[in-house]
This record gives sequence, structure tokens and C-alpha cells, in this order.
Amino acid sequence: MTVLTVPPLPQDSRPPGAAPDAALLPPRYTDQWIDGAWVASDAEGRLVVTDPSTERPLATVPAGTARDADRAARAAAAAFEGWAATPLRERVALLRRVVGAMEARADRFAEIITAEVGAPARMARHTHVGLSLGMAAHCVETAASHTFEERVGHSLVVREPAGVAACVTPWNTPLLLTVQKIVPALMAGCTVVHKPSEITPLHARLLAEAVAEADLPPGVFNMVVGTGADLGTALVTHPLVDVVSLTGSTRAGREVSALGADRIKRVHLELGGKNASLVLDDADLASAVAATVDQMLFNTGQTCLQWSRLLVPRDRQDEALQLVAEAMDGYVTGDPRDPATDLGPLVSAAAHERVTAYVRRGTEEGGARLVLGGPGRPAGLDTGYYVRPTVFADVDPLTTIAQEEIFGPVLSVIPYDDEEQAVRIVNGTRYGLHGAVWSGDDARAARVARRFRSGLVDVNGGQFNPAAPFGGFKQSGIGRECGTAGLEAFLETKSMQLPQGAPGQVVGPRLRATAAARPADTERNDG
Ligand code: NAD
Repeated sequence: MTVLTVPPLPQDSRPPGAAPDAALLPPRYTDQWIDGAWVASDAEGRLVVTDPSTERPLATVPAGTARDADRAARAAAAAFEGWAATPLRERVALLRRVVGAMEARADRFAEIITAEVGAPARMARHTHVGLSLGMAAHCVETAASHTFEERVGHSLVVREPAGVAACVTPWNTPLLLTVQKIVPALMAGCTVVHKPSEITPLHARLLAEAVAEADLPPGVFNMVVGTGADLGTALVTHPLVDVVSLTGSTRAGREVSALGADRIKRVHLELGGKNASLVLDDADLASAVAATVDQMLFNTGQTCLQWSRLLVPRDRQDEALQLVAEAMDGYVTGDPRDPATDLGPLVSAAAHERVTAYVRRGTEEGGARLVLGGPGRPAGLDTGYYVRPTVFADVDPLTTIAQEEIFGPVLSVIPYDDEEQAVRIVNGTRYGLHGAVWSGDDARAARVARRFRSGLVDVNGGQFNPAAPFGGFKQSGIGRECGTAGLEAFLETKSMQLPQGAPGQVVGPRLRATAAARPADTERNDG
């Protein structure tokens, strides 16, 4: 068994532009995890993984090719029959070992996520890694107690692994969103090819190392790095891939959906969001605003679940803005390795450019008032992809900043006149992932939550539940992850009609009944 140890990341404190120090050159990885071994990629191109807080390279990885995708898909297909036939209790034991191997690497995962995502150290350890470990263990135990077979009348309905699963993941909460797919897929009996985001492949290498340590049979889990356009496209269109599970932008979802259509692949999509936090007129405004600001800023606003729209009664908007300003005052933006930091940089130069352009657009379009932040960098943070947390007030719900996913710490405060109008605004985007509703009356909050056209709604501060289905309506996706629903995404259903017909059974259409199945009166009319 080859076990790769991801070397410590270079701690580079040279000033920008200083001469290179050979000892600090970033690691150069050349391989992919395929068929139970680190295999050299034949990629000629390289991808640079950048630390978004220093703008310096952390490592380079192969820009994986269609051939890498092919080798991984073939390995997964060859391993499928054996893994699918492995008794559930053995799969459970092996996956518990994977979780154990991940737990043993918790600090390394956190260090890498801080380095490649820019997630503040405290949050990386407790949320990115802590939640991922909890989620992985939860997915194993969900499968361990799942009912894979049931009798429906004279039929035996069995749930079987769907085949080879291509699990394509984003960079923003990379470990969590990966385990949320690969653990249920493996527990279902699927074999897996994981394609992490090309922006953050280093945590995925460490995850492959943890899987290697748990000694899964070769080919059951494979991990290949490359861009979406090259390796990703080759993987999701590969004839040996049966299920594609993508978490990413709505743009990528549209492409992958189209790519899968030719071979009628099962495509599961977890996509973008433009989520609303709706404060009703009888709510405790202070606690609703504080919770919304905290959630909006999590991961520097780079989450699909982000409440990027705050809806408040028009006559309470000024009060709400005062509370927003007070809440945001307590958050520290800076070096993600500093334990005091709450907000790190955005993930990349492209993200910085995109978010800045949206903030500019907000100041130019539709009469919104910029009340906090703005397009410039935070004071004293000239290196790194840092932005200023920004708040707009009096936002017209139909303008760009209120309709499009910005994926940064930008809040649109939208005043409304009555509950009907508020619900229309909440539902008035192409997305439908998440939302929140706040009221002094839990029953009223729940009643309004039912009217949200979204897959998730938090009612008066209800907390995330890993057992509950997770996913979106409309252009936020198709299908659900987490809990039983997440497992079923990787299962096919087969109905086996057993020979002993139940009394009173309806006889299906047949030209010639077989002797065994032929009821007495059908037999008389036969032939
Ligand atoms: P992205 O769409 O750029 O990339 C996501 C993944 O898809 C990457 O691995 C990428 O290489 C791959 N990809 C892109 N195009 C592809 C193609 N044509 N074929 C195959 N693979 C392809 O998204 P991102 O920037 O990494 O992540 C941010 C986005 O993800 C946001 O829109 C966010 O809302 C969304 N997201 C959704 C959820 C959810 O659960 N709904 C969770 C996290 C992030």
C-alpha cells in the first residue's frame, strides 16, 4: 500500500518580489489517486494552487486530462461488482476506518483549508473540519441502519448501488461537500471518482491519503484533479460513469446536465442560491438581524446557503440598518492564520474581481444606498484577496445585486410593505435553496416558511440538521443530499415480482400466461 504524506505547506514570510528560496519552493505534485495507488498523470499542463491571503503559490498539481478521467473511471468500473457485493457490515467497518483516518488528520485538514480556501483557522478547525467529521460519521451510521429491501405485496423491492459515481465538488466548504457525497456513495455500494475543485485540490489529496490508510479495495475510491472544462467534462461524459453528483455553480449545473443528457445519466445537482432572511413585523429585530449578519458573513460570504437578502418591514428599515452596523462592527477581517480573525480573503483574484464588480454595480443601478463597506480593500490589507463587508439599503428586489449570487460578504437590505409582498420577493429569484423566517410567533413563522419556494428554511433560528434532506428548488438544483435522501441518491430501485401471488392480486397484462402464474379463470380463456 502506497501512502503519500502531504508535506507541510511552506511557511513563506518573504516580502513580495524577493528572490526565491529553494527550500520554500512549493510542492510539485504529479500524480492522481487511481486504483489504489498514486499514479503519474500524463498531463503536460500544471495548475497552481494559490494562498489567497498571500497571493503566493502553495503547490502545483497536474492539470488532469481526459486520459486521467478514463483511467479512474475504468478502475472504478472494474471495482464495482466486488464492492457492490461486499456485505453492508464490511462496508460500514471500512468506512468507519476512513472516518478514523480523517479524524487523525483533523489538524492537517484545517491547516490546508486555511491555506487554500483562506478560511480563518478557528473556523477551519471547528466548522469546516469539525462539521465534515460529524457529517462523515453520520452518513456511515445512516447507511448502517438503512432498510435496503422491503416487501410491497408480492414484490420484493430492493435498493441496489447505482454504479460508478462521479462526485464533482467546489472549493468553498470543500471537505464537507465532498464527504456529503462520497461517504453515502460508498456506503450505497457505488464506486467513486472524486474530482475536487481545481482551486482547492490539496485537502482532497489528504482525503485520498486517509482513504488509502483505511485499505479500501483498489479502485473503490479514486481522486483526480483537473479543470471542469477538461478533466471534468471527460469524467461526466464517460460511458462507464452511471451517476454524476455535482455541487457547484448553476452555470456548471446547466453544462453538466446537458452533458449527461446524451447518455441519460443520473445527474444530481446542488447549485447556487440567493437566499432571503425574512423578518416579520412581530419578530425580535435585534436577534434576527444579528443571526442574519453572522450567517451572511460565514466563510467571507462564500456559501451557497448565505442569507444575502435581508427583508424587513419598511418602517423598521432604519432600525434594522443600525443593528446591522452594530453587528458587523465586531467582525475582524485579516490574516486567516491569526486566531482573532473572523473574515479571511476571498478565494481567488477572479472572485475578488467578481465581488468588487457586483459592489460597483450595486452603487450604480436601481437607487440602492451603500451604507457600509464599498468596492475598495479593507485598510491595511493590500496583499491578499480581501474585500470590505458591504451593505446596501433600499434595494429594489429586481436589481442585479438582489437577483444574482454574489458569493461574497455583501448584504442587500430590502424593505417590504406587507407579508404577501415579502413572500413574493423571497420567491422572486431563479434560485430556491435556503431561507430564514423570523416571527414572535413560531406557528406564524412556520406557516410563512411553508410558502418559501426553497429546499431549506430555518424557522426562528432552527439549526442545521445533517439527517434532514439538503438541496434546492428551481435553479438551485435537483435531488437531495444528507440523511436517507443522500444515500438514496446513489441507489437504484428494483422491483422483483415473486411467484406466490397474494390473494386478490391484480393480474398484469399478458398475452400468454405461464403455467406457474396462471390464475384458474385466465387459464380457461387462454389459447
Ligand atoms: P464551479 O461551478 O465553478 O465548480 C464546481 C465544480 O464543478 C468544480 O470541481 C469544477 O471544476 C467543476 N466543473 C465546472 N464545470 C464543469 C463541467 N462542465 N463539467 C464537469 N465539471 C465541471 O463552482 P465553484 O466556484 O467551485 O463553487 C461555488 C458555487 O458552488 C456557488 O455557485 C455555490 O452556490 C455553489 N455551491 C452549492 C452548494 C449546494 O449545496 N447547493 C454548496 C456549495 C457551493
